[in-house]
Amino acid sequence: MAASGKLASFRLPPLPTVGELIKLYNLRAEKQLSQNFLLDLRLTDKIVRQAGSLRDAHVCEVGPGPGGLTRSILNSGVSDVLVVEKDTRFIPGLKLLSEAAPGRLRIVHGDILTYRMDRGFPENVSKPWEEDPPNLHIIGNLPFSVATALIIKWLENMADRTGPFVYGRTRLTLTFQKEVAERLTASTGSKQRSRLSIMAQNLCTVRNCFTIPGRAFVPKPEVDVGVVHFTPLVQAQIQQPFKLVEKVVRNVFQFRRKHCHKGVEKLFPEACRVELTQEMMRKADVDPVLRPTELTIPQFRALADAYAHLCTQEASLLSYEFREELRVKNLARKIKKIADTSPDK
Ligand code: SAM
Repeated sequence: MAASGKLASFRLPPLPTVGELIKLYNLRAEKQLSQNFLLDLRLTDKIVRQAGSLRDAHVCEVGPGPGGLTRSILNSGVSDVLVVEKDTRFIPGLKLLSEAAPGRLRIVHGDILTYRMDRGFPENVSKPWEEDPPNLHIIGNLPFSVATALIIKWLENMADRTGPFVYGRTRLTLTFQKEVAERLTASTGSKQRSRLSIMAQNLCTVRNCFTIPGRAFVPKPEVDVGVVHFTPLVQAQIQQPFKLVEKVVRNVFQFRRKHCHKGVEKLFPEACRVELTQEMMRKADVDPVLRPTELTIPQFRALADAYAHLCTQEASLLSYEFREELRVKNLARKIKKIADTSPDK
């Protein structure tokens, strides 16, 4: 009984429904901010449950909009929610919610891509990286337009222990387009295996929690939505700098249907391409005729280690970008063509 009495004290007092707030403040969804709202509080409760127990937790919510998910977070026993919202139109509705949850909801009007989350929470939230995760969570029904860029940025922060990860192994519960959620969690050999699968699974335990049908959102997006939970690993599976890993993985996946050595080749300038590709594949002991989707993370680790070794022998390799070489070549070709057809010639 005592426990249920405590739980009851988390509940928000009666408020206008999210739908009523949308009408009250005339909050039409803006397409360029990827606004698709969740009005069904059973669904927002289900998203919040994926984060695990939030009792006394600190939470950063990305893009609260009209505040449906925010209500579920506040009802789950958290001590502090910090919401970051780009669109000014939602601020009055969020202030109303903040008054209903005194001292528990902080509102930042800003852009999550530039917001300094390392300054958002008190220092005593922090836990050493090797220990259990801190009682700090990031939760968000992310705008599709920023979701992939944001998770890549946070994965890099995770590798460097910066941003939200200055507090330790901060957990994330986020929504993505269903296809992106599938890529994030795809295992070796699956059709969806991609750069995102390796980058995420190298640094986290990633769980595809459940799918929300597009029709549950207002307005209805073209696609279904996946809820994904991330817990940073104590130790990354690939012990190389984030940018180096990203470069190897990106190059390998650029020809996803071809043999993996095709992508590896593009890590090297034309003049030494064949020789260094053979050396890298030999050193990594990876079969060059495997497809990128068939490679395991230990095989990517071996490739990244072999590439790092080659870069210690020839430092200029690290800054070599195949696409840049291609761009310069194309430019030179165009200039030559113009010069060749010039009447002054
Ligand atoms: N959380 C609400 C819900 O579930 O109904 C709204 C979700 S809607 C998909 C995405 C929200 O993120 C919108 O409120 C939008 O204004 C906001 N948003 C878009 N880009 C943003 C950014 N760069 N930084 C912060 N918020 C952003």
